Amino acid sequence: RVAHMAERSGDAPAPKGPRLIAVGSGKGGVGKSTLSANLAVALARKGRRVGLVDADIYGPSQPRLLAAEGMKPKAREKQLIPVDTAFGVSMLSMGQLVEPGKAIAWRGPMAAGALTQLMEADWGDIDDLVIDLPPGTGDVQLTMIQKFKPAGAVIVSTPQDLALIDATRAIAFFEKADVPVLGVVENMAGYVCPHCGEASDPFGTGGAEAEAKRLGYPFLGRIPLAIDIRTASDAGRPPAAGEGAIADSFAGLADRLLE
Ligand code: ADP
Repeated sequence: RVAHMAERSGDAPAPKGPRLIAVGSGKGGVGKSTLSANLAVALARKGRRVGLVDADIYGPSQPRLLAAEGMKPKAREKQLIPVDTAFGVSMLSMGQLVEPGKAIAWRGPMAAGALTQLMEADWGDIDDLVIDLPPGTGDVQLTMIQKFKPAGAVIVSTPQDLALIDATRAIAFFEKADVPVLGVVENMAGYVCPHCGEASDPFGTGGAEAEAKRLGYPFLGRIPLAIDIRTASDAGRPPAAGEGAIADSFAGLADRLLE
């Protein structure tokens, strides 16, 4: 039966490329990179073959988030080969194309060229390619949309008003380019004090959900503001690879994207 299926899949038309999922935000610091890394890991845990492009030239953080700082991508005939992280996700980052710690002061065309190199790398047979975009709506995002036509965009926002206004702008950007907005994730929603257990809302709560509803987009879920997320992320241990409530919230986001 297995052999039969293998034979059949051999006859099937050549598979289309991976599903490109662009992760964007209106502004920096809302947790877009953290979300991208953990979404990729959560999708991989569900059995998807996942690649991750770190296109955030202003703050490439995927090598740190996925404990891949020592991994240098190789190239074959000028085509980059992604590194295999320990979390079942292959990855390439703008940070791997430059010397660590050096400022990246590229003009738009250079950044767009670097993005193209990452996107046209030898990704092999993958199902999903998650793309961690720079914040806002600049040259890299435009190249992504025009040249690579993502299947959809996930927008990350904090519940805070200002981030939301910016997030709305990012949504409008994708809408205008006919990239389906798959939904909005509210990050840093609610804080539970690790000492006394008291719950509070430093950035408010529910704002992103209300805005997503108002604009008619799916609300994909919320991730709490949690010290564990920050410390684990900084240590190269994506919380989505662990167990418990936080890993479950990332798994929930992955489920929504597979529906
Ligand atoms: P962006 O990519 O939007 O600039 P990052 O993913 O780099 O944002 O996150 C900014 C900082 O906030 C990082 O130090 C990260 O660890 C932290 N962070 C992100 N999401 C959370 C969260 N839900 N709880 C706690 N810290 C978070």
